[in-house]
Amino acid sequence: MRHVVVVGASLAGLRTSEALRRHGHRGRITIVGAEPQLPYDRPPLSKALLTGRTTADRLQLPRATELEADFVLGVRAVSLDRDGREIGLANGRKIPYDGLVIATGARAAVNGARAGTEPRPWTLRSLADAVALRDRLVPRQRIRVVGGGFLGNEIAAAARQRGCEVELVTRGKLPLLAAAGEPVATLVAELHRRAGVTLHMKNPQSPADVTIAAIGAKPNVEWLSGAGLQLDNGLLCDRCLRPITQDGEPVSNIVAAGDVVRWPHSLAGGSPITVGHWSNAVDQAEIAARNLLFPDRPLPFTAVPSYWSDLYDARLRAIGLPHLGSPVVEEHDPTAMRLVVTYWQDSELVGAITINRTSRLAPYRTALAKHHQVGGSETDLSCGGTGLSVR
Ligand SMILES: Cc1cc2nc3c(=O)[nH]c(=O)nc-3n(C[C@H](O)[C@H](O)[C@H](O)COP(=O)(O)OP(=O)(O)OC[C@H]3O[C@@H](n4cnc5c(N)ncnc54)[C@H](O)[C@@H]3O)c2cc1C
Repeated sequence: MRHVVVVGASLAGLRTSEALRRHGHRGRITIVGAEPQLPYDRPPLSKALLTGRTTADRLQLPRATELEADFVLGVRAVSLDRDGREIGLANGRKIPYDGLVIATGARAAVNGARAGTEPRPWTLRSLADAVALRDRLVPRQRIRVVGGGFLGNEIAAAARQRGCEVELVTRGKLPLLAAAGEPVATLVAELHRRAGVTLHMKNPQSPADVTIAAIGAKPNVEWLSGAGLQLDNGLLCDRCLRPITQDGEPVSNIVAAGDVVRWPHSLAGGSPITVGHWSNAVDQAEIAARNLLFPDRPLPFTAVPSYWSDLYDARLRAIGLPHLGSPVVEEHDPTAMRLVVTYWQDSELVGAITINRTSRLAPYRTALAKHHQVGGSETDLSCGGTGLSVR
């Protein structure tokens, strides 16, 4: 393959490029990115950067291999011509490819009702967002965070650590309830209360100096419209991370990785899911690169999803798809703020979350991988069709 174009200069794009080199690609690699920066790490944006424990210049992603790639930064891809094998950029330039990697990730969702309102709520996805927000987090500033997911919780905790007066507004009765169930949500709420964050279920009428919407992410697929691919809520791919055309066929010279991908996962009973986790982008990069270089022997992507979150001094670790199951408390020490919860669907383990108890996670990871036959050896796995099933 002579020229691989990677669209999206972030975690998934960079790691896929590195994997291409590791697996022997000697041709050109061009990495196109909408942001002006070289690839940087996003998880610290809502943690160490907001709290002031790190600075923007320390977030560049380390390179595992000598890449020898051309970066085209600060310009967005706006079109894909699959027949002509080229992408179009916002500045009018066309870049031809032999192989294409789609790694355009996701952006912060903004609630439709709020999109037209002024001032628009802040969102946090990029380094520029985080730097601007950090500068507003000064002591006694009234900060309202709307959204009880992982990101909203982290922003609330960081703002409180900066001395702000913080309100966290959640849709459910507790933060993280939808993502992690009641036992975890109760402990997280207690962490916030101890730190002095006020929890609300409805948007309070009182004024705030800064309102931040952390209400989810939207995959960046708009630039692919017109390319004959399935783009509903993410780029639909088969188990081998190959985009699926509107005729239901996988494309052989294009792969995708990271937050933009929607693909069938056995933990979800074969239904397509998106996973906005750091390790998912890294794991998918490996398989995507291999499948682009060796299309005759494609491997399915079957890793167990995993996630981490840091709130104050608490370390939350999650594996599998906890939101699909009912929680069972395996261990709870309220004094030490330790918690181990497993999640079950029809008597099957689908996830586990620990707080301040990371060492308990490994056996559940093994069980998840085994039970759902994910993460097996290369030789006993095959793509075998798209792997899609509709429940
Ligand atoms: C604030 C924050 C905190 C997080 N914390 C955690 C955490 O604690 N743990 C965890 O597991 N995960 C965390 N995540 C999620 C993790 O960072 C993502 O899963 C990861 O960044 C996904 O990488 P990606 O390359 O797929 O997508 P992104 O990182 O979203 O990168 C996509 C890139 O493509 C660019 N792009 C988009 N459209 C175009 C286009 N048309 N043309 C060119 N370029 C384009 C974007 O500008 C962006 O640079 C966090 C995310 C955020 C935002």
